[in-house]
Amino acid sequence: RAKRTNGDPVALFSEEMKVAAFLRFTLEGDLRRALGADELKVLYQPIVDVNQRAIVKAEALVRWSHMDRGSIPPPEFISLAEETGMIVPLSRCVMEQVCADIAALGDDLPDDFRVSINLSGVNFMDAQLLPTVRAVLAEAGIPASRIEFELTETVLMRDLDYATVILAQLREMGVRVAVDDFGTGYSSLAYLRRLAVDTLKIDRSFVNELDDGQGIAIVEAVIGLAHSLGLEVVAEGVETVAQLEALSRRGCHLIQGFLFARPMSSAMLAAALHNPAFVPATVQPAVRRGG
Ligand code: C2E
Ligand code: MG
Ligand code: MG
Ligand code: MG
Repeated sequence: RAKRTNGDPVALFSEEMKVAAFLRFTLEGDLRRALGADELKVLYQPIVDVNQRAIVKAEALVRWSHMDRGSIPPPEFISLAEETGMIVPLSRCVMEQVCADIAALGDDLPDDFRVSINLSGVNFMDAQLLPTVRAVLAEAGIPASRIEFELTETVLMRDLDYATVILAQLREMGVRVAVDDFGTGYSSLAYLRRLAVDTLKIDRSFVNELDDGQGIAIVEAVIGLAHSLGLEVVAEGVETVAQLEALSRRGCHLIQGFLFARPMSSAMLAAALHNPAFVPATVQPAVRRGG
């Protein structure tokens, strides 16, 4: 129970709201400034193919290194950026950094290596998305085949007709698309067949539930769906060998998670790509059921 400072609970409440609004206002101003001040950094989390025992992709994950508050994780500022529209310049900034890093790594990158970039619903609905992607790729001088975008199921489902058109245009450009956090939204075979997507990412929550046997049915269903539609399937949030084996045995051999690595700088990623021992030899590809 709040202390009665002036005997007026309404006044007390509005005082709290003023403080909240003020904090938000400051954060919004800070984010606006951060965009121009090099405070947004992109880290890369490797995605390993356990059959090839190699890093085949990486997911770009933004970090805000705030001058007073230290490193702020995305869940604390992405929604604010979405609400204020700042997600548009923010995503452009992420795309530019990713493309510049890819260009800098140049021949060091394996031929088929891609980086996936998260987009929010606001980005997807932005009429400037495709021109922006084209401009950023051209400026960095890298091919579209280096990039995959991650969109959540919910964003894709909001307007199927619109999603169908935009995804077709992205595919025509040569950019791939992954469905992020798959299984947490409204999935249906019908919509997936219609959309030009390339990859399904099994949400971390289901990978977690593999441990007590609960996630197995969902994970098997997602892997089966992906295979029957000819899509790639990536499991995210893999933290243990037991989870890796459970996934690999069921035909999911693309693995992302703390078991292999946390998000890292592009320099560390380059080193990891050249380290033949990055995926330990003890990680054995499982025999696929039904071959
Ligand atoms: P996401 O796209 O599903 O990204 C995966 C998140 O899971 C990342 O958190 C990653 O660090 C974390 N993760 C990966 N492996 C493990 C694991 O083994 N265990 C645990 N506990 N966590 C793991 P992060 O970087 O904090 O990002 C959170 C979310 O913020 C992302 O979820 C994505 O939705 C959003 N996000 C991150 N970067 C961007 C960006 O550049 N643009 C946009 N629009 N959203 C972003
Ligand atoms: Mg993602
Ligand atoms: Mg995800
Ligand atoms: Mg997620």
